[in-house]
Amino acid sequence: MNEELLTKDEVLAEKAPLCICGLTGRQFHMMVTDPGVGVSMYVRTLFECIPSRPGPHGRADLQESAELPMAAQA
Ligand SMILES: [Zn+2]
Repeated sequence: MNEELLTKDEVLAEKAPLCICGLTGRQFHMMVTDPGVGVSMYVRTLFECIPSRPGPHGRADLQESAELPMAAQA
């Protein structure tokens, strides 16, 4: 497992990231630290987009590919 730990601020900042299909998806997170003990840290869990829209779907800002959609196609 090589999961990236995120702070609460980072989690809030990426709640609605851009999907590679051009829409805004939704990123879910899970707390991996004990509540009330030190700084809460989170990992990414599910990324969700609109299933009825033809894929592929995925976090645009996490793709290795250089083909980022700079603007949603109308
Ligand atoms: Zn999508």
